[in-house]
Amino acid sequence: MINTEGTPVYTEQEKAYWKSLAREYEAHLADMAKKHPTAAMLGVKTCVRCGQCCYTYVCIPRPEELPAVADYLHISVSELISKYMVADTEDCRTFFLRWAKHGEEDITGGRIPPIRTYDHGYCIFFDEKAGSCLIHPVRPQEARYVKCWKTGNGRDRSQWGMSGWTKDDIYRFIPDFDSHLPQGIGAD
Ligand code: SF4
Ligand code: SF4
Repeated sequence: MINTEGTPVYTEQEKAYWKSLAREYEAHLADMAKKHPTAAMLGVKTCVRCGQCCYTYVCIPRPEELPAVADYLHISVSELISKYMVADTEDCRTFFLRWAKHGEEDITGGRIPPIRTYDHGYCIFFDEKAGSCLIHPVRPQEARYVKCWKTGNGRDRSQWGMSGWTKDDIYRFIPDFDSHLPQGIGAD
């Protein structure tokens, strides 16, 4: 159910279901980290290219960062969005575009259905064999900021790409964007 402010309201059963999905996802991430230890886990102070940050938290570029990535790939910004990005949100009010994950190619170009929030997969631009970012020279600011071995890594919200998005930005990139996709258990 959606309230008058456009925010989903979940039943207790739905809340329990979302919590179980979140727990399952956390356990999966912990398992992945055991298989691909990070620099922090290994106690070293340089990136070991384990890819764990590109698996756990796919980059969110700021709106102004999209043209450079599109140029780098020799495509338009709208092609970049339709091929490689999904619209996501933290609060169902402000939406942002982030890179899709491998396996999310079927839903690029629009809002990620809430049930797909816990999709497993590396960032669509992560080259698993090489352990590298395919858009490294133009990767978003927040990717440059992540250093897993540093104390307080990632805690400064001002460095997050998400913080660069206003409520209107999503309509600049997707004029007919509809945030009101079906919500709740089983919506897809
Ligand atoms: S910064 Fe990312 S890729 Fe590099 S070691 Fe840390 S988690 Fe792995
Ligand atoms: S854009 Fe590059 S650095 Fe950012 S999550 Fe994707 S592969 Fe990793």
